[in-house]
Amino acid sequence: MIGSRTRLAGIIGDPIRHSLSPTIHNAAFAAVGLDWIYLAFEVPRGAAGAAIDAVRALGIDGLNVTMPHKADAAAAVDRLSPAAQVLGVVNTVVRDGSVLVGENTDGDGFINALRIDEGVDPAGMRCLVVGSGGAARSVVRALGVAGAAEVIVAARRADAAHAVAALASVGRVGRVEEADSVDLIVNATPIGMGEVVDLDALDLPVPADRLGAGQLVADLIYHPLVTPLVRAARERGAMAVNGIGMLVHQAAIAFRLWTGEDAPLEAMSAAVLAELAHRG
Ligand code: NAP
Repeated sequence: MIGSRTRLAGIIGDPIRHSLSPTIHNAAFAAVGLDWIYLAFEVPRGAAGAAIDAVRALGIDGLNVTMPHKADAAAAVDRLSPAAQVLGVVNTVVRDGSVLVGENTDGDGFINALRIDEGVDPAGMRCLVVGSGGAARSVVRALGVAGAAEVIVAARRADAAHAVAALASVGRVGRVEEADSVDLIVNATPIGMGEVVDLDALDLPVPADRLGAGQLVADLIYHPLVTPLVRAARERGAMAVNGIGMLVHQAAIAFRLWTGEDAPLEAMSAAVLAELAHRG
């Protein structure tokens, strides 16, 4: 029952009504038996600073931040974690006494999904990341920190690709045709997202004939659950995962930072899969 001791976490963004974060976190609070609730707040562009002030004034215990507020939130908090500092964007705000700390859990969420769900450690691996947006930035930095041997960044804008590659000491700009020379391929573009009408007619972020056995392909997309890239990779004998793992593990890190409890990963995954099935 919600009462006067119930603690509040939430997410700000615009749009926000599609967010899976309330589903994931409310399932986690219920599974652990915590008297917490998690709500979605539609906050218009430019109002992130006011929302962070509200977190201070109301004593809100945890906040996630999504588009278009991630950079504004980094400017509005009191302190940044090393990842948030380097990336310049915040997806999680944590209260440390009266100090609000901006974190970025996406990159570690990606790495934890590989390590915990797939039993794969990217240390020593040659990696290719396709894309140069926010997700690519988080993943490239995290792969570098995790000890990848090389992180090749392939993106359609050369300047953006160089900026992303610079986030890992082992980063360099390359081409998607190099996919056959790497151990791990990450799709950090929206290519393949959404309703799939004809799988065979779709472009892939990486040429299918560069995929094969011994490789791990990680598509950050989770709608559909089997993306054209995941399907193509599996058909050619590669191991392939969708973006559910990263989604759940970035939330799990936030959950632990806010509550101090280990995140109930199975309950979180089950809740998000049930919600996606319900949405169709
Ligand atoms: P973003 O900041 O908008 O970046 C998208 C990137 O994809 C940009 O580099 C963009 O290039 C590139 N791109 C878009 N369409 C392309 C095309 N047709 N050909 C080549 N490159 C193309 O988005 P984001 O936040 O990084 O997200 C990227 C993907 O990751 C999305 O599908 C998102 O749903 C997913 N994601 C998943 C998780 C998770 O937890 N699983 C978390 C974050 C993101 P330009 O810059 O040249 O436009």
